Amino acid sequence: MNLIMFGPPGAGKGTQAKMIQDKYQIKQLSTGDMLRGEVASGTDLGNRLKSIMDAGELVSDEVIIELIANCISEAECEKGFILDGFPRTLHQAEELGNMLGHMARKMDHVIVLEVDEDALVERIRGRAGEAGETRSDDNEETLINRLKVYNDQTAPILPYYEERGLLRKIDGMLPINEVTAKIEAILDA
Ligand code: AMP
Repeated sequence: MNLIMFGPPGAGKGTQAKMIQDKYQIKQLSTGDMLRGEVASGTDLGNRLKSIMDAGELVSDEVIIELIANCISEAECEKGFILDGFPRTLHQAEELGNMLGHMARKMDHVIVLEVDEDALVERIRGRAGEAGETRSDDNEETLINRLKVYNDQTAPILPYYEERGLLRKIDGMLPINEVTAKIEAILDA
């Protein structure tokens, strides 16, 4: 089973992808996590990626498509995968379609977490003074740009998957466990 978790930054894609990974034994592929790994390694590429990510802009399609192409052909993705944070542009979606076509595989569901953007900004404000794990792009200014980038470059992918009958929309403002239950109902149907 191959899935895409779709939705704006802060909608809970990563949280839900982890739950599905554990229950269905299919691999979560988070391009954001992979990029953060590269940044942490302190390479030249990592340093270039960091400034793009801290600004809330998108990393080039070329870099991202290569990352994903390497991952989905690995044995750990044999049973399937959950794409979390990819595709983010129409070009990425089309390239993904080509890759899967060459592998004689297909996408099963595109799960869209629908959220209220004002509530997302409120959530991030609440998180600002909190201790714990923080991300350097987890601040109000960057989030506002990430939402803009989502609306300008990522949301336009939705009609591509709508035409293919793959969209499954879920209210992402519900409590986490209720969102999980709704996703499971789709996957078990
Ligand atoms: P995320 O953890 O998915 O919110 O991603 C964090 C940041 O990594 C994004 O704001 C982008 O700068 C970059 N990024 C992650 N996935 C992609 C992608 N598919 N295409 C372009 N940039 C990405």
